[in-house]
Amino acid sequence: MFMSILFYVILGIIILQFLIDAIVDYLNAKKFKEAIPQELDGIFNKEEYIKSQRYKTANYRFGIFSGSFSVLLTLSFLLFGGFAWVDNLARSITNNPILIATIFFGIIMIGNSILNVPLSYYSTFVIEEKFGFNKTTKKLFFIDLIKSWFLTAIIGGALLALVIWFYNWAGTNFWVYAWAVIATISIFMNMFYSKLIVPLFNKQTPLENGSLKTKIEAYAKKVGFELQNIFIIDGSKRSTKANAYFSGFGKQKRITLYDTLVKDLDEEEIIAVLAHEVGHYKRKHILFNLTASILLTGLTLYILSIFINTPSISLAIGVTVPSFHAALIGFGILYSPISEITSLIMNYLSRKFEYQADDYAKKTYASSPLITSLKKLSKTSLSNLTPHPAYVFMNYSHPTLIDRINNLKK
Ligand SMILES: [Zn+2]
Repeated sequence: MFMSILFYVILGIIILQFLIDAIVDYLNAKKFKEAIPQELDGIFNKEEYIKSQRYKTANYRFGIFSGSFSVLLTLSFLLFGGFAWVDNLARSITNNPILIATIFFGIIMIGNSILNVPLSYYSTFVIEEKFGFNKTTKKLFFIDLIKSWFLTAIIGGALLALVIWFYNWAGTNFWVYAWAVIATISIFMNMFYSKLIVPLFNKQTPLENGSLKTKIEAYAKKVGFELQNIFIIDGSKRSTKANAYFSGFGKQKRITLYDTLVKDLDEEEIIAVLAHEVGHYKRKHILFNLTASILLTGLTLYILSIFINTPSISLAIGVTVPSFHAALIGFGILYSPISEITSLIMNYLSRKFEYQADDYAKKTYASSPLITSLKKLSKTSLSNLTPHPAYVFMNYSHPTLIDRINNLKK
């Protein structure tokens, strides 16, 4: 039976999620025109503020278009039997379940990526370009795209094949083995991402000797933080937007500063940003996030193992033969309201962690350079100074600028 109840549940989930996002985006957009809160006065002058409002509006409109495009695509794929068509095509090529699944996901991923190219092209070369953020060339854009497709195909393809192999070998116990492999990859990636993956896209150079490095080392020594790896990454080859992040642990831990950040901030401000990153490490946020994501993966895989043999979950996406890969897609959509909730919880915790890291920087260094650096970074990225609370609750991994400044001034 093609039109099962689960089929309608799947359609309902997709439509409902789209509507919730659209409503929250709309509420957020309605606040674009609001006056800047007094505490944030002086970040933008009038002309710059109008520019930032135009930027937010351009992104909002683009978001409506790309969100509608993607939801219509998914719905029509479901309604017109797209999954069944791809499944039959894969089955006409081979009988091997691992190869069928790899071809099935391969076709869907490639199709989806190709359809999304015009969208990301527009976002980069029309919107970001218009507001002066874009530094990517068309050549680099396409090279990046091809590299990331290859990476996804190799890592994703190998993982998928392995998980199905576990399933054929161990039945519903596959989840334990799949979990062990995914957990190992997560830990490995957390430690070696900067060494193995980042160099495929960016150049990282150790921070040169000089007053900045001396000051950073003095700070690290003061707080008892062993820091051998400080790298500058050439983010400026793609965008003028600035960032800094912490990765790895143990001997592999490193702080990566964007060259744009080093250019935009003075030395005191850079150290304040760095102190914030050290705060994340000292408060064990990195370890917590990694552990939480591994536990969540285990839970999801366990629930998947309960439903994987239920044929109606496969059939709900319109295919005629139940299979692991079809059930994976059906389960993925049916489970998405739950993963939506876990991501809300993770965002909530992440915002708490940002306050803790800010507090750490304030305690061990100073609050005023962190405040000025946050203001500068908001200005150079034309960020939203008046987001709607519902939007913040749903989407922000960091507190709003005004909340962070108020916390730092406490
Ligand atoms: Zn942070």
